[in-house]
Amino acid sequence: MEIEFDLRTEGEELPDAFLDSYELELMFDGTRHSIRSGLERKLAGVTCDEHGAAPKFKITGIYNNADEQMDIHYHVDTCCQIFLVRVMRIINMKG
Ligand SMILES: [Zn+2]
Repeated sequence: MEIEFDLRTEGEELPDAFLDSYELELMFDGTRHSIRSGLERKLAGVTCDEHGAAPKFKITGIYNNADEQMDIHYHVDTCCQIFLVRVMRIINMKG
């Protein structure tokens, strides 16, 4: 399973920013770690029944300096639609 991260900040850093750039890096590291371990826990060894391929993930996270919120988007690439549906079902399962 491939997981690619694109985490970045957007907007001007506020002079009284809640997180400085070092703390932001730590937060990004924590975000990468928790997303990766969550996906690996749910999808370890999951491959397409027909094509044998594992899903590929692209995680985009944008931290907005103005409102100090992190926006995270998941993009999943799979060999076929049937496997995509299966992967999404697994991801959306609780636990
Ligand atoms: Zn497939």
